[in-house]
Amino acid sequence: LLRPDGSVAQTVFAEMTQLAARTGAINLGQGFPDVGGPASVRAAAVAAIEAGHNQYAPGPGIPELRHTIAAHQHRHYGLDVDPDTEVLVTTGATEALAATILALAGPGDEVVTLEPFYDAHAACIALAGATHVRVPMLPAPALPDHATSGTGSAPAPGGFRLDVATLRAVVGPRTRLILVNTPHNPTGAVLTRAELDAIAAVSREHDAIVVTDEVYEHLVFDDATHVPIATLPGMAGRTLTISSAGKTYSFTGWKVGWVHGPAELVTAVRTVKQFLTYTSGTPFQHAVAQALADDDAPRALAASLAARRDLLCEGLADAGFGVSVPQGTYFVVADAAPLGFPDGVELCRRLPELAGVVAVPVSAFCATGDDGTPSATASALASSVRFTFVKREGVLRDAVAGLRRLG
Ligand code: PMP
Ligand code: GLN
Repeated sequence: LLRPDGSVAQTVFAEMTQLAARTGAINLGQGFPDVGGPASVRAAAVAAIEAGHNQYAPGPGIPELRHTIAAHQHRHYGLDVDPDTEVLVTTGATEALAATILALAGPGDEVVTLEPFYDAHAACIALAGATHVRVPMLPAPALPDHATSGTGSAPAPGGFRLDVATLRAVVGPRTRLILVNTPHNPTGAVLTRAELDAIAAVSREHDAIVVTDEVYEHLVFDDATHVPIATLPGMAGRTLTISSAGKTYSFTGWKVGWVHGPAELVTAVRTVKQFLTYTSGTPFQHAVAQALADDDAPRALAASLAARRDLLCEGLADAGFGVSVPQGTYFVVADAAPLGFPDGVELCRRLPELAGVVAVPVSAFCATGDDGTPSATASALASSVRFTFVKREGVLRDAVAGLRRLG
């Protein structure tokens, strides 16, 4: 995190948002919506402030929100969660990830993630001093036949898929945590039941704890279904499930997240959380407790995102990109190689000038060695860039018009 010259690395999202501000280009880099969440939820936050909910919340989170989280998990997934001992409210999913990894992993432990991975996953593993082990998620044709988890009865869907053979090879006695992310940022893949079964099997075999980042749980499209790994046989007792109100309700700035799982693990995470933030924003917890009881807003958001996904994917394909249509999240990965751009980093630097658009290179979600060499997954995805489609349709149309100039 500290560069050799003493400067501090900033996240790729901050860098790309600054690039958009500097150049006036359309920011399809950082994933945040350009329209705020439901009016009733905004009003609930204002009402909570006016009602005097302005001092420290209880450490685990306000009881109303913990109860609503438990009810949400039961209503959607049939999970039985004790709101008093098995739920912790956090400052966004980011704090849930940090507190969980810091609580449970340290030097000598291996933490397995998917690759590409969300940047905070790798950063928190580094902060914990643990060893980061990665399992590729690659476009299905790039994986060896034996690597995907098609069961024979149902072929695995196309798009990005988990390299199950590598998963089985790398999980072992030193594996402390397996950090899953579905729906997956940046690829938009929704892990299949077969892929999740494979992760569950290796976690049980090697007695590893599964941490699952499900912040895009409600943003799934077409016939894809989000399956929480905690619902698989034998998994509730070894899984910590993380989510957040940011993506589901378009309040990324509110930073209300949560983690739930077995009481003894949640207690360990809470112990760390005390010294990261102590407690999380009280009025926003009241507003999110109200939002989470209502499933209409996430359903409407997913439907409108599916249309915006189609708009951007069709535009990218027309412009000449190789497009992997996502089944979830609000991101699409597009391969610029067919347009004659072998290097996604270089393309993203030039994209404001060439197309008036900002995107993020997928290699930013991949590992580099100490000597700066890219990982095998980074090399395989060197020409891929990530665009977000959580912007108004008019903004996406303007971006597509700019991207067509690349062809
Ligand atoms: N995990 C993933 C995969 C994400 O994309 C994000 C959102 N940027 C987060 C965690 C962080 O969520 P929050 O804003 O709630 O901290
Ligand atoms: N999760 C968002 C993304 O992937 C942004 C989060 C951030 O800026 N840290 O674009």
